[in-house]
Amino acid sequence: MLSEETATEIWEQVRAQLKVEAGNTVFENWLSLLNLNSYANGEVIISVQSRFHKDWIEPRYGNRLKTLWLSHNKKIKNVSLVIDESLSNRVYKKNIAEESAILGFSSPLDVSYTFEKFVVGPSNNFVAAAAQRISDTDEVSFNPLVIYGGVGLGKTHLMHAIAWRIKSNNPKRKVVYLSAEKFMYQFVRALREQDTMGFKEQFRSADVLMIDDVQFIAGKNSTQEEFFHTFNALVDQSKQIIVSSDRSPADLEGIEERLRSRLGWGIVAEIHQTTYELRLGILQSKVADIKNCEIPKNVLEFLAHKITSNIRELEGALKRLVAHSQLVGRPVSLDSAYDVLHDLIRANNRKVTIEEIQRKVAEHFSIRLSDMSSARRARAVARPRQIAMYLSKQLTSRSLPEIGRTFGGRDHTTVMHAVSRIESLILEDSSVADDLELLKRNLDN
Ligand code: ADP
Ligand code: MG
Repeated sequence: MLSEETATEIWEQVRAQLKVEAGNTVFENWLSLLNLNSYANGEVIISVQSRFHKDWIEPRYGNRLKTLWLSHNKKIKNVSLVIDESLSNRVYKKNIAEESAILGFSSPLDVSYTFEKFVVGPSNNFVAAAAQRISDTDEVSFNPLVIYGGVGLGKTHLMHAIAWRIKSNNPKRKVVYLSAEKFMYQFVRALREQDTMGFKEQFRSADVLMIDDVQFIAGKNSTQEEFFHTFNALVDQSKQIIVSSDRSPADLEGIEERLRSRLGWGIVAEIHQTTYELRLGILQSKVADIKNCEIPKNVLEFLAHKITSNIRELEGALKRLVAHSQLVGRPVSLDSAYDVLHDLIRANNRKVTIEEIQRKVAEHFSIRLSDMSSARRARAVARPRQIAMYLSKQLTSRSLPEIGRTFGGRDHTTVMHAVSRIESLILEDSSVADDLELLKRNLDN
C-alpha cells in the first residue's frame, strides 16, 4: 500500500524527471500544471484544469507519466489524468504559485475516505455529526474540532471526508490537511532553509487547517510552539481548525498547558470502541465493493464477532479472506475463515487482565493471592510472582511500570528482571516451561 508520504515523494521525483525530459518551456506551460490529486489501491490520479490541457498532455506524456510512476513503485496499477475544474477557477499565475505552495504542504487525500463510505453507529455518531456540521457550513461555529480515539477507528477517514466535502461545497476554500509529523518536518525544513516567514505565511493563508495525529508533537517543544502560534493566528482570523489525536487533550502528556487548554476550547469528540452492529455494518458496506467474490452472511457475522480490536484489522481480515479464496480458487466459508485468520482471532481473544493472571498463577502454585503484592521474598512465593509478571508482560498490553504497580507497587526494573529471569529459566528448566504452557492454555479459555 502506498502511503501519502511516499506518493508525494514519488510525485516530486516524477515531476523533476519530466522537467528534465520535456525541457523548461514545455514543463512550465503544461506539465507544471499537473497536480497529484489522490492515490488509493494502486490508482494514482493526476488532475489538470481543463480538457484543453488534458488533450494536449495525455497523448504526449500520458504513457511516460505512467512509466515513471511504475519505475518508482511496482505496486502502482494505473495512473490516470482527470479534469479538475476547480483548478481553472484560479486566477492565473500568481494564484497558481500561491495555491501550489500551500498544496505542497497539504497531503493528498484518499478517494475512498468519504462520508458516503463512513458507516455511522453509536460509537461514532456524535463525532460524525460534528464533522458533517463543520463541512456543511462556511461559518466557524466551534473551533477547534478535536477528534480522538484509538488506532484504526476512523480518525483519518473522517478528516479526509471533511476535506473532500469542504472542497466540493466550496472549491475556493483552501483546505490544508497534513499529519503532525509532516507539519514538524516542514517546520524543521523551513528552519534549515531560514524561511520560517514563508512557512508561517503559507499555513496562515489556509481557510481550514487539519492536523492528523497531533499526539506526535508531544514533547517536541519548538514544533509545539510553532503550532500554537499558527493555531492562534488562524483562530483569530476565524479560520477552522480540525485536529485528531489518539487520546483526549486532557491525557496528552508532553503538551504545554496553554496548547492543551486551547485544544479544549471547541468540541472534543471521541470515537469509541466499535460495537458488533457497527462492525457488521462496515463489513457489509465493504463487501458491496468487492467483485468476483461471494462472502456468506455467517462469515461476516463471525468476523464481526471475533475481530473486535479495530476497523483496520477488521478490513485486513476481510481482504485476507478474499485474497486467499482467489488464490486457492475456493469460495469463502466459515472453515476457511477459521483457518486463514487463526492468528488474528487468537490475538483478538486475548483480553486477559493482570488480576486474572495473578489469580490463576496463585491457584496453580497454591499460594495466597495477596502474596502477589506482598513483600515476602521466600522462593516459594517469589518465583510464582515472577512467573505472573512474565505472563502479564506477554499476554497484556500493560507497560512495565503499570505491571509493577499491580504487584504491590514494585519498580519497573523489578518486572524487567523477572521477565528476563523467567525467559532464561524456560530454557534451563523444563518444568518451568511446562508450568507456563499449562497456565497460558488455562488463561486462553
Ligand atoms: P485511524 O486514523 O483512527 O487510525 P483510519 O481512519 O485510518 O483510522 O481507519 C482505518 C480503516 O478503517 C480505514 O480503511 C477506514 O476506511 C476504515 N474505517 C474506519 N471507520 C470506519 C467507518 N465508520 N466506516 C467505514 N470504514 C471505516
Ligand atoms: Mg490515522
